[in-house]
Amino acid sequence: MATSSVKRVKSSKSSTPKKSAGATSKARSTKWVYLFREGRADQKALLGGKGANLCEMTRLGLPVPQGFIISTRACNAYFEEKGLPRDLWPQVLKALKSLEAESGRTFADPSNPLLVSCRSGARFSMPGMMDTVLNLGLTREVVQALAQKTGNARFAWDSYRRLLQMFSTVVLGLEAHPFEAELARRRAFAKVENDSGLTAETLREVAELFEQLVRKETGADFPQDPLSQLRLATEAVFRSWNSKRAVDYRNASGIAHDLGTAVTIQRMVFGNTGPTSGTGVATTRNVTTGEQQLEGDYLLNAQGEDVVSGTRTTRPIRALADDLPALAAQFSKLGVKLEKHFRDVQDVEFTIEDGTLYVLQTRDAKRSAQAAVRIAVQLVKERLITRDEALLRVTPDHIDAYLHPQFEPKARKAAVARGDLLAKGLNVSPGAATGAIVFDPDTAEHRGGKDKQAVILVRAETKPDDVHGMLAARGILTSRGGRTSHAALVARQFGKPAVVGISALEVDAAHKRMTINGRTFVEGDVVSLDGATGEVFAGEVPTVVPAFDDPALLTLLSWADEVRTLGVWTNADYPRDAERARGYGAEGIGLCRTEHMFFEVERLPIVQDMILSATEEERYRALSKLLPMQRADFKGLFEAMHGLPVTIRLIDPPLHEFLPSHDKLLRDVVNLETQLKVTGPNVALAERLAREQRLLTAVENMKEANPMLGLRGVRLGIHFPALVRMQVRAIFEAACEVKKAGIAVYPKVMIPLTALESELKFTRAILEDEARQVIHEQGVKVRYQFGTMIEVPRAAVTADQIAQLAEFFSFGTNDLTQMTFGISRDDAETGFLLEYLDKGILPENPFAHIDEAGVGRLMELAVKKGRQARPTLEVGICGEHGGDPKSIAFCHRLGLSYVSCSPFRVPVARLAAAQAALTS
Ligand code: ADP
Ligand code: MG
Ligand code: MG
Repeated sequence: MATSSVKRVKSSKSSTPKKSAGATSKARSTKWVYLFREGRADQKALLGGKGANLCEMTRLGLPVPQGFIISTRACNAYFEEKGLPRDLWPQVLKALKSLEAESGRTFADPSNPLLVSCRSGARFSMPGMMDTVLNLGLTREVVQALAQKTGNARFAWDSYRRLLQMFSTVVLGLEAHPFEAELARRRAFAKVENDSGLTAETLREVAELFEQLVRKETGADFPQDPLSQLRLATEAVFRSWNSKRAVDYRNASGIAHDLGTAVTIQRMVFGNTGPTSGTGVATTRNVTTGEQQLEGDYLLNAQGEDVVSGTRTTRPIRALADDLPALAAQFSKLGVKLEKHFRDVQDVEFTIEDGTLYVLQTRDAKRSAQAAVRIAVQLVKERLITRDEALLRVTPDHIDAYLHPQFEPKARKAAVARGDLLAKGLNVSPGAATGAIVFDPDTAEHRGGKDKQAVILVRAETKPDDVHGMLAARGILTSRGGRTSHAALVARQFGKPAVVGISALEVDAAHKRMTINGRTFVEGDVVSLDGATGEVFAGEVPTVVPAFDDPALLTLLSWADEVRTLGVWTNADYPRDAERARGYGAEGIGLCRTEHMFFEVERLPIVQDMILSATEEERYRALSKLLPMQRADFKGLFEAMHGLPVTIRLIDPPLHEFLPSHDKLLRDVVNLETQLKVTGPNVALAERLAREQRLLTAVENMKEANPMLGLRGVRLGIHFPALVRMQVRAIFEAACEVKKAGIAVYPKVMIPLTALESELKFTRAILEDEARQVIHEQGVKVRYQFGTMIEVPRAAVTADQIAQLAEFFSFGTNDLTQMTFGISRDDAETGFLLEYLDKGILPENPFAHIDEAGVGRLMELAVKKGRQARPTLEVGICGEHGGDPKSIAFCHRLGLSYVSCSPFRVPVARLAAAQAALTS
């Protein structure tokens, strides 16, 4: 195998001139190979992230072992030409020469050998790419010379056995197990805990055994020619670009398949030469908490992956000050320099060779949400970045994480150390949860709902029939499904932490059992999940809700407020929601749904009486009972909002929603009739029966084929003016009362579902008359507005006419989306919508992100026409889209006045609005 590959190198070289002149000259003009000193940080596309940053560090004069990079272009050429481009290898040999000159060592020269590592590195770091191979260039001959030259036989044989092991598993694709098993056997025999305790003699024996293993498995010798080692490793890196894992990952994260990976060939430095050598990884700040101190681990007398592989217990980076004080000081200085240059927290790999520090890699460090926020603010204070940059570095998800439970960081770390991290799935709905697993929705509902236990519902996938169980569970796990699966959609909608698509999970619902990465769990066993990261743990991992009053978060959000032009309001029905939202920074209430208040236990019978009333008088009596209740509701909202706008939507849903279902009434009537027969004359029962019968008749009379498009919204107010009159009276009585108490008020009365200018004309006249009357009675001046929702396409299209009568617009994008698509959301999201997303008929759920091409066009038209007619027209959005960053950016572009979202989305919306202002 090895020899044939060497031949291929030579023959391709000698055959070059035979090829057509055109092809050759075209190929000649391509530069495939770059020395570290020839590249820079902004060439990540060509040199890969790892390579480009090595070049940048070289330019900075940092101690980087030198090397060269074979470009991503070469990777693409490799696939096109089904082999290395013919003029590539000469360029590699030339770069190698330059490396030899620089280091004073020669590749493949036993008397003074140069060894190199071969590292993969695409533009974005991604799983599935080839693991790094260290110590390339060692052969049976070189290893002996190296032992003699360094006087360190242990080091030489340790390096060789590592090369044999890494090359065989990574490049030749042999099973890792026999190699590991042999080492384990040797450790047991020598009674040592880790490989650093094995002697030179043992390592030599191990190396020889590994050589035999290669011969046995591949039928060829382990390549004893350094150049062919290099070439085989290079090709293996290229091939790994199309490994299944890499391809799957790119598909899942929308990364193009033609970016290619680069190959970095770098002179080896050795952390395994003795006690003043070592290797480690550290971040320049704590990336869990954001604290300003180095965080990381290292090992003395170790090489490469030893630190992350967990075979030896690492030492925390602060211990370096005891082990090698001069190096510790040098390393922290280096960290500062890197942060200054890259203007962000860095994740640094380093190696110490006989007391000399080398940097092997640097990149922007991954961080927790909390650390992201704190670090962004710190960097501004340190003048490394601007406020605008800080606002763009934090994501809406980072802000969102502050509003959900998270694992307690120490507990999570301990769980990882215990080996309890079971798997990672898709992180589809943020928040951490811990609880006992159950395998069916009814048990979840029973235990989670009635018994208030913490349960986690585990399913292969969820269906509409499972929703009651999902609601009662603290979290949801599924083995199948993606980001738009039923489980994901429902979980996000209800704010349930969820991890889906966990391929390592096998659910055996019939036997109430699941297996995950070889471990079996039965009903009642405790697991924990983090829907923000996709992690699943065995056992309980305690959760905490991060403090929203984190000074860094408040600072960052105050910067966002300075930048954004969109207002951020909230949808709140109750004073407690309004207060919470104000605490999160809401500047008004964009939607208060009055009908929610009608559903409360003590009110529902009165609402039903109102609906059932046969005469105006009866109706009036019921309404006057509701009036003080609604007044109290609105008073609370006005008090909570202290003069900020409070938009109150008049009753919207069809009245039958306040009545029991037809089926239930029918059953009740039959039951009562039978009971009466048994008991004989009974006044109480007879009265109940009469009421149920009246309800039944009312329901039958009100039955509509399409209630969503029936008697609701403004139509209901026109049909039943007394009801909306009562609401308006309650609003203005409350406003006057609060104003009299010395608190400013600003009510905005919002009429739902308008389609026609004439509807508004009719209804506003009645309502404003009522408002004026109240203001007159109370003798206080109240500033107020009448406006409408824009949720019927006709209203959007005739917005100029509508604006004659509406002082403000608010897009109800849930209904507007339903009516524009002609899709009922409830039916779609539990049914065919999933299929549409799966088949790519819809690129995304239009109820989650505004459909800009359709619904968005209607909105655009409405804004334009509305403001033509009334230049000061305030236009907001109160549909669920108001809390979605992508939709918020769209609203910013449309020039809306504000977005209104649920209290928990307010902080997210503040950042998203700022980002929209900064990027559009
Ligand atoms: P990964 O992307 O998996 O981190 P790396 O290419 O960064 O892979 O390398 C794996 C390990 O090998 C790291 O610890 C790195 O520092 C080390 N390493 C890579 N090249 C060299 C080298 N030339 N000399 C010493 N150590 C190296
Ligand atoms: Mg690395
Ligand atoms: Mg609506």
